[in-house]
Amino acid sequence: MCKRCQERPVYKLNNGRQFCSKCFTHYYERKVFKTIKQYKLIQKGDKIAVAASGGKDSTTLLYLLKNLCKDGRFCSIEAVAIDEGIHAYRDKTLKDLKAFCNKEKIKLHIFSYKKEFGFSLDEALKLVREKGIKLTSCNICGVLRRYLINKKSRELGFAKVATGHNLDDEAQTILMNQFKGNVSLSAKLGPRSGVSEESVFAQRIKPLYFCTEKENMIYSFIHKMIPGFVECPNQQSYRFAIRDFLNKFEAQNPGVKQAIVQGFLEVLPLLKERFGPGAGGKKLSKGGKEINVLRSCTKCGEPASNEVCKACEILGVLNAAKNKP
Ligand code: SF4
Ligand SMILES: [Zn+2]
Ligand SMILES: [Zn+2]
Repeated sequence: MCKRCQERPVYKLNNGRQFCSKCFTHYYERKVFKTIKQYKLIQKGDKIAVAASGGKDSTTLLYLLKNLCKDGRFCSIEAVAIDEGIHAYRDKTLKDLKAFCNKEKIKLHIFSYKKEFGFSLDEALKLVREKGIKLTSCNICGVLRRYLINKKSRELGFAKVATGHNLDDEAQTILMNQFKGNVSLSAKLGPRSGVSEESVFAQRIKPLYFCTEKENMIYSFIHKMIPGFVECPNQQSYRFAIRDFLNKFEAQNPGVKQAIVQGFLEVLPLLKERFGPGAGGKKLSKGGKEINVLRSCTKCGEPASNEVCKACEILGVLNAAKNKP
């Protein structure tokens, strides 16, 4: 029973404390707003693009930020979604997203791979299979989606992009980067992106950073946000395997995901110093002091760690394969 209200519990913390739906809502929202405050994710007057997909995490984020914004009196939000063109998946989640934004009166912008790049993800994957290209679905999808969200949000005049990444996502990515020997990629993680405040690129913020997938699920369920549940048919087996392993390990050792992320945050400043934005890029003098900046891709001008950004690299491979007889 919920100790405070003597109501039926919907959630139990690792220390055994149980919450009814009302107390869970209070606990969850406090956690999100504490993260926003502690990491200075949102300031008064911010214009924020919420990277939305129609899934539970980003829909929950839209719902919370809309309330935080107080009808534009504190900050303002709009939703930016990408239609990758994944049959029987994205069409369904976008339908839910449109209905939600309509109901909550949130402006929604949708950009598609087909229109922006000339092919849908399904078509790109067909090409990958036919030509034996060594690119995975999530590799193509993740890079191109991030690219479009960043580019379009900036073009629309948003200084910040909020994403629905949760504690499970972060713990999985930390382990994946570690297991694959790509620890330098982890310098981009954390509740806010490594892009400096002086940068012209939109800053990424993750207000749900300390909320678990289960907590997001319960919150979205209590507040009746997700009509249906559908999974992407292209899920990457590597992340899947890490997710399953972590879930099993968490069940046997409660608190392990939290420990991975908290331990990671201890070393993140060192990782940023060593591999962060601009660590290998050019330096500019601003206000009399030297600051590091990200490079701009020589092809498209978007942020890049090398001369050409990852999106242009992937588009180059796909377009070359498409034009080859
Ligand atoms: S699981 Fe992979 S392919 Fe599917 S939407 Fe996510 S990143 Fe894209
Ligand atoms: Zn209660
Ligand atoms: Zn580029």
